[in-house]
Amino acid sequence: MTGMDSTGGESFSRGPTTRFAPSPTGELHLGNARTALFNFLLARHGEGRFLLRIEDTDAERSDAEHTAALLEDLSWLGLCWDGGPGREDERGPYHQSQRGALYERLFVTLERQGRAYPCFCTPLELEASRHAQRSSGRPPRYAGTCRDLTSGEQQRRRAQGLKPTTRFRVPPGRRIEFIDVVHGPQSFLSDDIGDFVIRRADGSAAFFFCNAVDDASMGVTQVLRGEDHLANTPRQLLVLEALDLPAPRYGHVSLVVGPDGSPLSKRHGATSVREFRERGYRPEALTNYLFRLGHSGAEHALLSLSAMARTFDVARLGRAPSHFDGQQLAIWQKETVHRLSAEEAHAWLGALLPPGLDRACASAFIAAVLPNVVLPQDARPWVDIVFGGPPALSPAAEQTVKAAGSAYFAAAAQAAAQCGNDLPAIAAAVRAATGRKGAQLYLPLRLALTGCPHGPELAPLLRAMPAGQALERLKRFA
Ligand code: GLU
Repeated sequence: MTGMDSTGGESFSRGPTTRFAPSPTGELHLGNARTALFNFLLARHGEGRFLLRIEDTDAERSDAEHTAALLEDLSWLGLCWDGGPGREDERGPYHQSQRGALYERLFVTLERQGRAYPCFCTPLELEASRHAQRSSGRPPRYAGTCRDLTSGEQQRRRAQGLKPTTRFRVPPGRRIEFIDVVHGPQSFLSDDIGDFVIRRADGSAAFFFCNAVDDASMGVTQVLRGEDHLANTPRQLLVLEALDLPAPRYGHVSLVVGPDGSPLSKRHGATSVREFRERGYRPEALTNYLFRLGHSGAEHALLSLSAMARTFDVARLGRAPSHFDGQQLAIWQKETVHRLSAEEAHAWLGALLPPGLDRACASAFIAAVLPNVVLPQDARPWVDIVFGGPPALSPAAEQTVKAAGSAYFAAAAQAAAQCGNDLPAIAAAVRAATGRKGAQLYLPLRLALTGCPHGPELAPLLRAMPAGQALERLKRFA
């Protein structure tokens, strides 16, 4: 026996236990964020548990900064984990780098049973073997060189200072079958799988091994992960079977690709959650967009995470690659921005506003520009227009303003001198003096005040301007 409890997560919950298991080797990519979201929703849908496990056994490629950033991005998205870093429990530790003792016990078990053996082949020898197999038209797999070394031969190699990896002995002539919750029935032949490394030469546990063993020891019952892991699954099932551990149900989710169909990468623009976040995207926009990316459904409204969880269904996960579409994301972003409370909008745009701006001006400005912006940067030109002093006019704008005439602007300036930055009062004075209505009335005012023929609602923009600005801008044409 392995000394592990194989009853799954039942002592914690009756629903499914899912997990997100990132390797902290880079930023949280949109594809991985979607995997995390789907696992989170699957757990919440069934009132189960969502775990976060940091797969950091590869010390060279993993680093603490990436882990910290990952935790921050997941929290920002609202994907709170029930067990994981900062939420340790008896299934932890949740960093694989701290689970060496468990792995060691299981390596010993496998070696004792003859299910694993030390392999002394060097990377160079392995490469040469793969090359030879490819050249003769065979798929490259471990040739079995160290499979049957006697213990004397093993000892001799150790005495030479060679540090072995540990390989799992794949049983011959087996068919490995499982039902993938996305792709349906799967069948692999063990003879197509070479003996694979479960412990690296530095003693650390390799992916196939620790990923599977941890799912079992953490009570994970359902795994949704990227399609690139589908072919790894038979190896992992063999490891679990050899250790008499329960296997989760696996579902492999289609990859997120760019508009051109190639895997989403830097050349498609921003790809990490951090980049979107720094540009001012809202977490609700990202989660709503990712929820629809490869998960079909009829819910067209902006949903909270709990509403998404209610309707999440693995049966609705598609098999076709999911095409990332920045315009769809922008639509969700717009939807989210329109619903920001005054407080949230202030936090979102506040950094752009001139320091020391009073609260009433800031609120008027934000209320005016919010319907017109998708990202904070869209508000920047309006910051300059409103707070940067009288705007320059294009020749066409100048012409419209001149055509309105000095009587028009004299009336406007007089009202501004009396009432300040008050558009209704200014417009009423101009209407009374000139008889103009509609666009005839408002366009010259808008041009003189903002320099632009279009833009956010004028009255709140004007209220946001420093005192005396309406007068200063209008009297230029009086
Ligand atoms: N650490 C693996 C990855 O980031 C996890 C794969 C899995 O979810 O099983 O790809």
